[in-house]
Amino acid sequence: MRIFVPKEKGGGESRVPLVPETVDKLVKLGAPVEVESGLGESIKITDSDYTAAGATISHDRQASLSSADIVLRLNGPPTDEIPYMKEGCIHISYLDPFNNTEAVRKLAEAGITAISLEMVPRSTIAQKMDALSSQANLAGYVAVIVAAERLSRIFPMMMTPAGTISPTRVFVVGVGVAGLQAIATAKRLGARVDAFDVRPEVEEQVKSLGAKFVKVDLGETEQTEQGYAKQLTQEQLQKQREVMARQCALSDVVITAAQVFGKKAPVIVTTDMVRGMKPGSIVVDLSVETGGNVECSRPDEEIFIDGIRVIGLSNPSRQVPVHASQMYSSNLGNFIEHFWDRESKKFNLDLDSDILKRCVITHGREVYNEVIRNLLG
Ligand code: NAD
Repeated sequence: MRIFVPKEKGGGESRVPLVPETVDKLVKLGAPVEVESGLGESIKITDSDYTAAGATISHDRQASLSSADIVLRLNGPPTDEIPYMKEGCIHISYLDPFNNTEAVRKLAEAGITAISLEMVPRSTIAQKMDALSSQANLAGYVAVIVAAERLSRIFPMMMTPAGTISPTRVFVVGVGVAGLQAIATAKRLGARVDAFDVRPEVEEQVKSLGAKFVKVDLGETEQTEQGYAKQLTQEQLQKQREVMARQCALSDVVITAAQVFGKKAPVIVTTDMVRGMKPGSIVVDLSVETGGNVECSRPDEEIFIDGIRVIGLSNPSRQVPVHASQMYSSNLGNFIEHFWDRESKKFNLDLDSDILKRCVITHGREVYNEVIRNLLG
């Protein structure tokens, strides 16, 4: 089975889907790997680094797409390239199937088996292929570093002969993978950190990182079997906002990372709440791509509201592309290895497996995933 990795097209992508270490791993499994010339340019990996790891270099993207049995990418395929791929080709990437419905339909029509890494289940066995988590970890780190760099204060407390400096106060809303990493990073820099999440078990995790959990009496909150939070009711969101407003006013930095899987992100910080913060404070919205937790945030923009800087950070892991590529590539390599039959040297598309059942979106000229099929009607 031949694997092809095309260069990412457009959209300011700085990460690459496959690095030489993973090429080496795949080639040792018995999978010939071809990469498009210049694949690693953005992170200074040369074509010869790839060939040294066992890959061949393609100078004809269209021909390579047409002959590949497996195509690996970071982002979903440009829709005009879907017809180039042959029927039965396995395409593995982020796919954003809840929003990228045109690509899903076209992939189904073309008979491509499209696997969406966002839909890999959050199970122990699938952890090694969980690209959402690996990128979210980096996102939490980047959010804090960006805030620290923009803030005109330092994070740690300092007791010096020139006086005592009190620590910066950081408030993290939404403590999933990104939020936990944001707390850990802010603590390492010496900030005083408060955090909130609707899932009650998060309180222990927050405390174990040395941060304080902000309590809001929301009554019952629900979770999916995958451990994702469900949407709050309008009354619950209103209650949450009242407490958040008080906490934001006390904070120098607010980082929001609250998501509801497959839905628009909840608006938690309103523009009035931003106005209630101290001038010079910073808000970083990590959910800006899915609609935003901060009413006034805009993707990849920094705006000022009464002297408060609001930063909409979409795809933050692109700011640390070396490690983001390394982790994504490792997730891809682990994914393929998990389903690789070493004897026949083939990807074993076992659609009954707990993992593929959830993340195969199109297969056999149909939208195979039930959730997405229902969404598309
Ligand atoms: P996510 O990105 O979907 O959401 C981020 C956080 O936002 C979640 O913690 C969620 O509870 C929170 N949230 C939703 N609405 C909110 C609101 N109104 N106010 C405040 N917070 C709100 O989550 P994620 O980071 O992808 O992780 C989701 C879950 O999966 C977590 O329980 C995580 O521990 C778990 N997980 C498990 C594995 C594994 O077992 N392999 C891997 C990764 C994550």
